[in-house]
Amino acid sequence: MATRIGIDLGTTNSLVGVLREGRAEILPNALGERQTPSAVSIDDDGTVLVGAAARARALTHPDRTFRNFKRDMGTDREFRHGSKTFRPEELSALVLRQLKRDAEAALGQEIAEAVVTVPAYFGELQRRATRDACEIAGLHVERLINEPTAAALAYGLHHRDRECRIAVLDLGGGTFDVSVLEIIEGVIEIQASAGDARLGGEDFVEALVNALAEQAKERFGFDPRVNLHGRAQLWEACETAKCRLSELLRVEVPVVRPGPHRPDESLVLPLDRDQARELWQPLLSRLHPPIRRALRDAGVEPEAIDEVVLVGGATRMPVVADLASTLFGRPPLRTISPDEAVAQGAAVQVALKAGDEQLDDMVATDVAPFSLGVSTIESHGRRRLDDVFSPILERGTVLPASRVERFVTASDGQGQIRVEVFQGEHSLCRDNTKLGEYTLQGIPAAAAGEEAIDVRFTYDLNGILEVDMTIVSTGETSTLVIERSPGRMSPDQVEQARQSLQGLKFHPREALPNTTALARAESLYTELRGPARELLGAAMRAFRLALEEQDPSIIAQRRAELSALVDRFKG
Ligand code: AMP
Repeated sequence: MATRIGIDLGTTNSLVGVLREGRAEILPNALGERQTPSAVSIDDDGTVLVGAAARARALTHPDRTFRNFKRDMGTDREFRHGSKTFRPEELSALVLRQLKRDAEAALGQEIAEAVVTVPAYFGELQRRATRDACEIAGLHVERLINEPTAAALAYGLHHRDRECRIAVLDLGGGTFDVSVLEIIEGVIEIQASAGDARLGGEDFVEALVNALAEQAKERFGFDPRVNLHGRAQLWEACETAKCRLSELLRVEVPVVRPGPHRPDESLVLPLDRDQARELWQPLLSRLHPPIRRALRDAGVEPEAIDEVVLVGGATRMPVVADLASTLFGRPPLRTISPDEAVAQGAAVQVALKAGDEQLDDMVATDVAPFSLGVSTIESHGRRRLDDVFSPILERGTVLPASRVERFVTASDGQGQIRVEVFQGEHSLCRDNTKLGEYTLQGIPAAAAGEEAIDVRFTYDLNGILEVDMTIVSTGETSTLVIERSPGRMSPDQVEQARQSLQGLKFHPREALPNTTALARAESLYTELRGPARELLGAAMRAFRLALEEQDPSIIAQRRAELSALVDRFKG
């Protein structure tokens, strides 16, 4: 018998939910884990690896490992490996195919159809691209639903007998999204969505890394950030400390002083919740503007919100839940694991449909699905960083919209400025999609920073972007008009991609636990030094030998030993 599933196809992780005996459940993957990293890597012999093994290879094989492609859905961006290129739809299809196979193995049934979630800010192009990805993966999409809607369904808020207003706050690893929903008799309307595409849990780690490195300099006389190894180790330690501070009031963070002639010296710095809160204050205050914007666009006051739902792993931080309580004057709902609410909600939607219950899920306003901006040069003292992406219209801005930003000349006597226009969410322009460029001439000679130009972006509902560039001192204006590139696959291309995916070699499912254990160990090996590295190297050799000898019980034992060592060093 074929069955249906709900899929949260996330930027960092993806999950599959099903409804069993009236309860939403998350299905485990081939490794027994509930989250599958949305990562794809091509192995040395051309086989495709998806999930944790692929993510672990991001460090050891960066040129053949792809992540974060959800951010480029609906664009023409291509990801290259040797002579082969992949569109974001194709990489998403590889993830979906793995999710489908794992779900079939977990349920012992074929998967017929799926409900797949998409961000509320996804426009038509990105929704179309998500459907195409499903088709390429051989998965029939019953319906796409909005992620905040799914989170509300997971909490059963659609069953309230009176109309209900909900704020969904989604703080993931790299992004923050806010949605205001109204539920009236089977209709869920997303009245507003806003966000910050460059704020997430990783920024909270970065704040700890910088503060603790300064402390290490002061107390122990060295900066762990001086080399890649020290930085990577401190990052891991701070990531762990951040998560542990969600449960504990105080933690100790290991800082390693690399020793060229003697073993690395392990030192610890204490960190408590109050200190962390202080360090995170600037980031916490950046959560306010998107919330205010979403409430304003929806035309409601915080008191009018009936429920606040927290989604995304970083909302586990007590400081985030406290902020939500204070802002809305009520404790947020957080009984469902914040990483799982969206997938659970997708499973609820599958069941609603099967039970013939109607639920309309609509987005009330069109918003910009990508950030639009220009390339700039940033000065840091004497150092200059170019190719920096400076957004003018942020993703989630209600359309039509018009915004202006002022820029100044970067060098003395600069007579012209090349304005390059990009769309995307990456901090460097080279990772975003270039839409066009224009060279603005006739800037009067002056010292660097003395002449200014205003760049105005006007974006309408048809996807036409008008860029007006004005030299402030002369008032002279030039205009560049950019029509959105289609970024869409034709039915023939989808069919071709489906066939080419079928021709790819996939890593066998049953070998994934071994491959993943090795990939995780390899990745950690590059970060370790001294005796720890030797110990890990020995465990990896023992595991490889066991794999060659093919005795399943010895393989399992060596794998458990290796994984225990990896966990200990990541600790
Ligand atoms: P997501 O994109 O929803 O998977 O969220 C990932 C982010 O959640 C990462 O920055 C994690 O560090 C963070 N995260 C996961 N668990 C916790 C926790 N217990 N406490 C604080 N942050 C967490």
